[in-house]
Amino acid sequence: MGTTVFERQRPAASVVRHSLADTRHSVFWRDDLPESLLPDRPALVGTHRADLVIVGAGYTGLWTALLASERRPDARIVVLEGQRVGWAASGRNGGFCEASLTHGAENGMSRWPDEMPLLERLGMENLDAIEAAEAKYGMDFQFERTGELAPAIEPHQLAWLEEWAAEGEEGVVLLDQEAARAAVNSPTYLGAVWEQRTCGMLHPARLAAELARVCEERGVQIFERSPATGLDTSGPGVTVATRDGRVEAAHAVLATNVFPSLLKRNRLMTVPVYDYVLMTEPLSAEQMASIGWKDRQGIGDMANQFHYYRLTQDNRILFGGYDAIYHYGRRVRPEYENRPASWERLAGHFFTTFPQLEGLRFTHKWAGAIDTSTQFTAFFGTARDRRVAYAAGFTGLGVGPARFAGEVMLDLLDGVKNERTELEMVRKRPLPFPPEPAAAIGINATRWSLDRADHNQGRRNLLLKTLDALGLGFDS
Ligand SMILES: Cc1cc2nc3c(=O)[nH]c(=O)nc-3n(C[C@H](O)[C@H](O)[C@H](O)COP(=O)(O)OP(=O)(O)OC[C@H]3O[C@@H](n4cnc5c(N)ncnc54)[C@H](O)[C@@H]3O)c2cc1C
Repeated sequence: MGTTVFERQRPAASVVRHSLADTRHSVFWRDDLPESLLPDRPALVGTHRADLVIVGAGYTGLWTALLASERRPDARIVVLEGQRVGWAASGRNGGFCEASLTHGAENGMSRWPDEMPLLERLGMENLDAIEAAEAKYGMDFQFERTGELAPAIEPHQLAWLEEWAAEGEEGVVLLDQEAARAAVNSPTYLGAVWEQRTCGMLHPARLAAELARVCEERGVQIFERSPATGLDTSGPGVTVATRDGRVEAAHAVLATNVFPSLLKRNRLMTVPVYDYVLMTEPLSAEQMASIGWKDRQGIGDMANQFHYYRLTQDNRILFGGYDAIYHYGRRVRPEYENRPASWERLAGHFFTTFPQLEGLRFTHKWAGAIDTSTQFTAFFGTARDRRVAYAAGFTGLGVGPARFAGEVMLDLLDGVKNERTELEMVRKRPLPFPPEPAAAIGINATRWSLDRADHNQGRRNLLLKTLDALGLGFDS
């Protein structure tokens, strides 16, 4: 088997050790929130009545609440959050806000080729609406419309870049090795594509906190530490129960993503796959000059097991990805967030990418569960006579699509036919994952195959080709 650049140009063990010596196991984005954006909200006690009850206060639940309050300003809207607003994926992700609703054009083309022009337009409108939200609602989530840079870091990836650029999409620029390194100075770059318009960078925890703040200003009630334990539709509407209370509403939205669904039919639809992240200390002016990166793009390399990295407002570098760890039993558990081997690997890959930053330290390390579905993008639907709507399974690309999901769920509850609800992507559910042990065997075999492909000029083995042909797979 061949090697990757991260094995060929490995930094000294002492550099990695030094960089991780004082790193806190804590989510930088949450730590970076001002107290004013972290109000302690009450738990639900007693019986409440509402027009709409939303379970989950990540982006999906909060966008749904905000959009619902715009559609019907007089509606009573209650959000129930099991822990704290934005504590899960929405508060700890990379902050790449992409236009794509299909987990990339290639995935979309392979599944819904006829719908892609419409999906791309809707995705771009959705991204534009998120960008406009800061001014529209008076929010600050540090949005920067930088686009995304995709560097080739192995020779076989150069052909993929050329194919991509040859599609002739507007705003897609092919950079040769010199131009790629002039954009961001890494000796690993052999060339790159820069998609200039289809992605923005934002502060993930701020987006969640600001959505909650604006929702509350518009009269939405948010309860924290109030896990919903059941859905009852035996009466005229829907009742959502928590330990100490209940909400009786006309409609419910389930925005619980990778967590166990309140609907049995959705229990096998997603699996949690753990993704690991590091954040550096702020770079000095000299360190910034040594890497260039003046256009501040988000970066995702072209490997199957890819890294994503970006700058923060105070010029730290977030560096995440590569390892994607599935634990037998598909549970979300805090102990899965502690994986020193993944952080060490990431730190090593960081200094291969930017050897000129040797000596830099990581201040934060954390992990989160990726909301993986078999079609790599969200699925949607209604249940219980259209009193309940759900969307989940964004597969690591939900920052932008969560807002779109909110629009779709509200359309579905209203029973309207429009270009969103008529999409095949919205109407058809993907296949579920199999139960254990098949899920663990399948997912781990796929991961192993993707790693081998990265070490073997990108060549996909029989398992990957079969999964491709079936439209199934595993990604993060
Ligand atoms: C490390 C990491 C990096 C990522 N990077 C990116 C990226 O750069 N770009 C991108 O587009 N996407 C990224 N993602 C994915 C993205 O963060 C998610 O797709 C998105 O945040 C999903 O939002 P959500 O609201 O659906 O889910 P979540 O943020 O998970 O929110 C679901 C909420 O529901 C609550 N809940 C669950 N069950 C119940 C219940 N029974 N009762 C009450 N509350 C309940 C949970 O407590 C949680 O707060 C990343 C994810 C991770 C983990």
